[in-house]
Amino acid sequence: MKNQIAILSLALVTFTSCTSQKSTVAKLSTNPTSLESNSTDVEKYIKTITAEDLKTHLYIVASDEMQGRNTGEEGQKKAGKYLIDQYTKNGVPFPKGVNSYYQPIPSSYFQKAFSPKLGNSENIWAFVEGSEKPNEILVISAHYDHVGMKNGEIYNGADDDGSGTVALLEIAQAFQQAKNEGKGPKRSILFLHVTGEEHGLHGSRYYTENPLFPLAKTITDINIDMIGRRDKLHEDSNNYVYIIGSDYLSSDLYNITEAANKKFVNLNLDYKYNDRNDPNRFYYRSDHYNFAKHNIPAVFLFNGTHEDYHQPTDEPSKIEYDALEKRTQLAFAIAWELANRKDRPVVDKSGN
Ligand SMILES: [Zn+2]
Repeated sequence: MKNQIAILSLALVTFTSCTSQKSTVAKLSTNPTSLESNSTDVEKYIKTITAEDLKTHLYIVASDEMQGRNTGEEGQKKAGKYLIDQYTKNGVPFPKGVNSYYQPIPSSYFQKAFSPKLGNSENIWAFVEGSEKPNEILVISAHYDHVGMKNGEIYNGADDDGSGTVALLEIAQAFQQAKNEGKGPKRSILFLHVTGEEHGLHGSRYYTENPLFPLAKTITDINIDMIGRRDKLHEDSNNYVYIIGSDYLSSDLYNITEAANKKFVNLNLDYKYNDRNDPNRFYYRSDHYNFAKHNIPAVFLFNGTHEDYHQPTDEPSKIEYDALEKRTQLAFAIAWELANRKDRPVVDKSGN
């Protein structure tokens, strides 16, 4: 999750846009959607996503060895190698048409006024090819960079976004196992670990400007950024997740998210931050936004901020692994439905 730093420009944007934007909270429909997923299959593979596996990965991805995973630095590259090792071990290949797990991004692309010079960096991608509509692509994204080190302290970024990073590993492993057992998805799934998020959503912007698969064939982005903790508004229970953006472009995506949750996971879906006029502007602060601005339906899963957000204390010991498991399973259940249902989600909303 990117920090909200440009207060002045932000205030201007908010000021200029608030007259034309209505709250989307009131627009949420409650149309039931019948899921087309085979429940037995979903229930079988969703169980392979476990708190224990997520924890094992996260203690490595968010360890001091990774030095806070700042974009272009050695620690981030080490974390990237770990991800690739896991994909290789689990037999999840890199996408068709390329020859590695890396999408390189040159240092020059990250240059912005007032921002530090960053090194060359890479998005990392893995791929489960669809059996019936391989050219239609579902993207599941999470950023694997964080803010590095400051004053000798390591910002481990366990929640932000180590949690989403390890969620992708587990979801990919589940889909690959399903494929190996003859239950692979009908559409293709691109697992996209983007870089440069904390410095301005660079990796996802780069991908959408240089897409491996045509954006017109990209059916949805499920973006996961911070799903391992709880915020002050949920002190009594971690059985929730904020859902942001699901109804902005597609009523199908909203309905599928709701139905998949009810049937397979049962989290409380909280739409508080789905309001475009919310001053936190979370919708604009993570990688799904770069897909949504190209009219690709996008849903963002998020646990809200907490006292360790962007602090050196965002450590794996503070993660609530039961919540991380359920939220990862929700992303999996949504992905399964999207990748397998007869029709891709319709784009029937303006995005405003
Ligand atoms: Zn962040």
